[in-house]
Amino acid sequence: MRPAELTPLFASAQSLTGIGPRLVILMKKALRLPPGVSEPRVIDLLWHLPTGVIDRRAEPAVADATPGTIVTLKVRVLKHKAPPRGNAKAPYKVAVEDDSGRLDLVFFHAERKFIERQLPVGEERYISGRLESYGDNLQMAHPDYIVAPEARGELPLLEPVYPLTAGLSGKVLIKAARQAVARVPELVEWQEPQWVQQRGWPTFGEALRRLHVPEDAADLSPGSKAWQRLAYDELLAGQLALGLVRQRTRAQPGRAVAGDKSIARRIVAALPFALTGSQTTALKEIAEDMAAPHRMLRLLQGDVGSGKTVVALLAMAIAVEAGAQTALMAPTEVLARQHLETIEPLAAASGLRVAVLTGREKGKARTALLERLAAGEIDILLGTHALFQEDVVFKDLAFAVIDEQHRFGVHQRLALQAKGKDGGTNVLVMTATPIPRTLLMTHYGDLDVSRLTEKPAGRKPVVTKALPVDAMEKLIARIKAQLAEGAQVYWVCPLIEGSDTSELAAAEERYAHLVQQFGDCVGLLHGAMSAQAKDATMAAFAANELQVLVATTVIEVGVNVPNANIMVIEHAERFGLAQLHQLRGRVGRGSRESFCMLLYKPPLGETAEARLKMMEETEDGFLIAEKDLELRGGGEVLGARQSGLPEFRVADVPGFEMLLAAARDDARLVLETDPELSGPRGRALRPLLYLFECDEAVRLFRAA
Ligand code: ADP
Ligand code: MG
Repeated sequence: MRPAELTPLFASAQSLTGIGPRLVILMKKALRLPPGVSEPRVIDLLWHLPTGVIDRRAEPAVADATPGTIVTLKVRVLKHKAPPRGNAKAPYKVAVEDDSGRLDLVFFHAERKFIERQLPVGEERYISGRLESYGDNLQMAHPDYIVAPEARGELPLLEPVYPLTAGLSGKVLIKAARQAVARVPELVEWQEPQWVQQRGWPTFGEALRRLHVPEDAADLSPGSKAWQRLAYDELLAGQLALGLVRQRTRAQPGRAVAGDKSIARRIVAALPFALTGSQTTALKEIAEDMAAPHRMLRLLQGDVGSGKTVVALLAMAIAVEAGAQTALMAPTEVLARQHLETIEPLAAASGLRVAVLTGREKGKARTALLERLAAGEIDILLGTHALFQEDVVFKDLAFAVIDEQHRFGVHQRLALQAKGKDGGTNVLVMTATPIPRTLLMTHYGDLDVSRLTEKPAGRKPVVTKALPVDAMEKLIARIKAQLAEGAQVYWVCPLIEGSDTSELAAAEERYAHLVQQFGDCVGLLHGAMSAQAKDATMAAFAANELQVLVATTVIEVGVNVPNANIMVIEHAERFGLAQLHQLRGRVGRGSRESFCMLLYKPPLGETAEARLKMMEETEDGFLIAEKDLELRGGGEVLGARQSGLPEFRVADVPGFEMLLAAARDDARLVLETDPELSGPRGRALRPLLYLFECDEAVRLFRAA
């Protein structure tokens, strides 16, 4: 159970004074809510951090104030000057003064009663806003703050500036955030006292207060002590959570699965190629891990085309040799079918019984398949999310492979794992995204990793070129010549943001144009097509009946047509590096010379230019991933949004890597000495996991 002291932080933001249903809807737009949270809560306001401050501390005499700056002035109200009758456009002015000089406060479209109430003649007021000169006079239009001397404390001398959305004012957020901060309870320090002291870090509550109610503009820099403290808290929470999950996974009696190579040998004999060195190494690592008595959770990383499928198949063979069953899950129907195509002939050659289960298998056929599965008559079940369904029961699932992890969540992984005896299924996750070390550590902790670093022999480099979009007709002419020689082309049209043209419409338009140019060898593939139509189109392209495939980004993951040698990407400037690299990986798989043409719309922004240049320069996925990280900077670091991984709330800071390494060591030490988090520090750390909503981990120790 969540500690009761944290309850007020998880109440709806509507529980704060001044926040009602209308504002909550606006806040929902401005705040980043974690997945599954539909209404902003107090805690979400706490993590909605200011991006800067307005400094209202300058409090000069009127005569000394500098026009063009933000000032706070203490003035007396002299007189009100209503606009002349019949001139609605003229502003309402209020003359004010101090002993050194005077100025006009200027209000357009003003409500006179309101101004009279705020600025009664003869009274003193603090006003704060931007001072301007108007001819020889000074004026301030619509002061941000007008407060009576006794209410001076309400005037934020350092006013935090929050990311906003239309209709939501900074003042509302300031008020709400101040209340939210006031709700943060005194919590027992969960960090090592020495570590905190050395760095001069404030407590958790104090750090939040300094960010939302700053006393020093420097507090709001991500390098500030307050911010660093919270960043470390978040990283530590993440590392602890991952550590807990992993510890629990490992502690559960896994299952030692060892084969006799009888099936694997037949598969290898049927392969038309020799395994690469890194395929062999990866297989050895996987086999050792499977043979050990803990549950395996291993990541197989390998660039597009590096040959992960064969590794997966040979690993699956181990489980079958051991007399058990295996599953391979792909994120889409198309990919599941494609795996079937690769695996089927090899399975036939080695006596493996393979079946496919996707959303498309229905009725009697599905029932029959499930019966065979439960009876142990299927060795390898390929499929999509449909594999998670409750009535999918294996006789004995010892090993599961998940392809392209990013499309699946941790929950789904656990759901699949739970289908094995005592939940003891060994899991291999495959991803083509070369995840940089930092990112891996952040999101997966010390997950075991095997990497395919070599490309299979015989691969040709992909010549990559960025072209402005006006070169398209020339490009089309060159492609026409290539098509005559038997080339095959992917033509990708992405979603065009902020235009009325949908992704689909853009692809359809391009399709029509290319049909005009190339004739009926052009096909169209998009997400709104039925599964059958998609498969038929893909199959026609794979069979070289279609030479040009215009597609939305649905072909992004995993598709394999070795003869395809040209990749055209429109609006390449809109893609991230990782995605461009993925797309490019679709070509260069066969014997033809391959090209990747990146069409962009000038002018290019700095980052987009750097991305396209990087693509022209290298095909090394790991290098590209590191660069991607660098270009996006710390927080998108995390490439999180693109990859579907959870994002950080505060940890996007300078010095991120150092903090992360420290957090990892710290978490490891804590869990080694206090695996149940039941000692004094362990108990202090529990609220931290709740504060950062590390659900999976929280659930695990709740179950303990
Ligand atoms: P990915 O890692 O992108 O999933 P695949 O497993 O789809 O890559 O493999 C891409 C292609 O490379 C397939 O046609 C596969 O048969 C082939 N392949 C795999 N391993 C080798 C190898 N060692 N030598 C030559 N070709 C290979
Ligand atoms: Mg693949």
